This record gives sequence, structure tokens and C-alpha cells, in this order.
Amino acid sequence: SAKGDGKAKSHVFHAQMDIDYHYKQRLKADLRLAIQEGGLTLAFQPLLDVATRKVVACEALARWNHPELGMIAPSVFIPLAEETGLISDITAWVIAEAISQCRSWPGEVGVAVNVSTRDFRGMDVEKVVDAALSAAGLPPTRLEIEVTETALIEEPEIAKSVLEALAAKGVEIALDDFGTGYSSLSYLSALPFSKLKIDRSFVQDIEANERSLRLLTNVASLGRDLDLTVVAEGVETSGQFDLLLAKTQIQQVQGYLFSRPLPARDIPELIVHLNHDTVIPPKRYKM
Ligand code: C2E
Ligand code: MG
Ligand code: MG
Ligand code: MG
Repeated sequence: SAKGDGKAKSHVFHAQMDIDYHYKQRLKADLRLAIQEGGLTLAFQPLLDVATRKVVACEALARWNHPELGMIAPSVFIPLAEETGLISDITAWVIAEAISQCRSWPGEVGVAVNVSTRDFRGMDVEKVVDAALSAAGLPPTRLEIEVTETALIEEPEIAKSVLEALAAKGVEIALDDFGTGYSSLSYLSALPFSKLKIDRSFVQDIEANERSLRLLTNVASLGRDLDLTVVAEGVETSGQFDLLLAKTQIQQVQGYLFSRPLPARDIPELIVHLNHDTVIPPKRYKM
């Protein structure tokens, strides 16, 4: 009967919820251990300047290789860390580790770190940044802090004062994943952003869809109009890159076309390789 089916379905539904619940509880406990025992690592992915063809910075991306379950994606463990408050420990570690790695990179290559929604109330971001920079002897201008719009909606006042203090020291503040989430253009003028990272969903089908390309072009020129450094995230193909060069004024690019995120030990060599090899042929540049 229909009634019986409903009951069976609801039973299955609840069983699945129990599995999800227990799985999440286990991951949260394991994540706590991983943080304590050095089980997290960082991968770094370069951002390249379109005009100079050089690596300008590398973004630190947290990685968790679970001893039994293998790699757990940040899209899974970062939200869990936010729910439990463990995120402050992760962020503090990422900031210190990323800044320490940056010291061994050639030239003036900077480092970008993602700061999460909960960090603005869960920790003193400014203090952690100051301590990490002075421990490494790295100037604040080598650091970029990436925040998403969600962080700003949830903690607008704290976020604003922390970001302003950091920007005043010369830390670059980037609005990450721009165009996703609850975009409010008012953030762009209310907060001290100097960089706009256009989410990769805008780049994804510019080769196939003329309207997507025009949307991207317009978002990029909005950013340029506000004197922001505009970055395209998630550039995967040379076709996408060609269109970016031909149709937009985007200044920086990041994506699998140039490099996947790589372990810290590979980064000095990667920077040298990208800077010296004509990974991006000069003729493709609109100077
Ligand atoms: P995000 O900050 O926007 O980082 C860029 C993400 O896009 C990374 O995913 C990167 O691997 C991926 N990506 C880069 N180029 C390409 C491309 O060409 N194609 C595609 N399909 N993807 C590309 P990842 O490492 O899985 O991180 C996902 C998100 O998790 C990050 O997005 C960030 O929001 C968050 N996250 C990662 N590490 C941290 C961290 O240390 N702290 C915080 N708070 N969040 C982090
Ligand atoms: Mg980011
Ligand atoms: Mg900088
Ligand atoms: Mg992003």
C-alpha cells in the first residue's frame, strides 16, 4: 500500500541520516586529532600576472589525508571545522605555515590564505597574522587574505575592522568566489578590497556560451572600474585563456591550465619553471 511504502521510505531516510550523522561525528573527532598530530598539509597553487607572465602569489589550500579514508576534500572538512569551532585552529596553522613556506620562494612571490566565516569571531586574525609575519620576517605586502561574501554577511562589523587593520599594514585583501553566494555589490566599496577573484563558474563555459563570456567581460570591467586587481579563477583550457586575453582586462589568472595545487616542496621549482618557461606565449598578450 501507499502507506506502507511511505513508512519504508521514511525508515530508509532515517537510516541514511544516522549514517551521515555518525560519519560526520567520526570525521569531526578525527579532524581534531589530525590538527593536533600534524595530519593536515598545505598545497599551493600559483596566480600568474597576465602582463608580466610571472607568478605573483601562491594560494595555500588545506589538505587532509585521512589515515583510513584517504583524501577528504576541503569542501567537506572546512564546513565541519566551522561547525565545531576547529576552524580557528586550522586557520592559525595555515597562516603560520603558509607564511613560513613563502619565505623560501624565489623573488617577491606572495602567499594567499583563505580566512573563514567563523574566524572573525573565533580568533584574533590580526594578532595571528602579525605573529606569523614577524616570526618569518616577511613583510605584510607579501600576504593576501581571501574572504568570501558569506564571511562578510555573518560578521560584517568584526570583518570590516579586522580587514581594515590588515589592509592598513599593506596586506592585500581579496574577495574570493565573487559572483557566487549572496553577492552584494555594496561590499566592494564598504570594505578594503584590492583584489576581486571571479569565481570559476563564470569562466567554465565561456567557450561554448557567448552570454557567459559577456557576463565575465562585464564582471571583469566592473572590478577594473573600481580599481581592483581582477583575477579569473579556474582557467582550465587554452581556449578559455585566449578568450580572457582577447575580451577582458583581467590581470591575473589561476587554474589547472597553469598548475594544479602542488605540495609545498614543489613550489620553488614550479615558480622558476613557470617564470622561465614560455608556458604562456608572449604573443598572446595584450600589453
Ligand atoms: P577557493 O579558495 O576558491 O580555492 C580554489 C579552489 O579551486 C581549490 O579547490 C582549487 O584546487 C580549485 N581549482 C583551482 N584551479 C581550478 C581549475 O582550473 N578547475 C577546477 N575545477 N578547480 C580549480 P580546493 O583546494 O578543493 O578548495 C576548495 C575550497 O575550500 C577553497 O576554494 C576554499 O574556499 C576552501 N579552502 C581550502 N583550503 C582552505 C583553508 O585553508 N581555509 C579555509 N577557510 N578554506 C579553505
Ligand atoms: Mg581562495
Ligand atoms: Mg602583494
Ligand atoms: Mg575561489
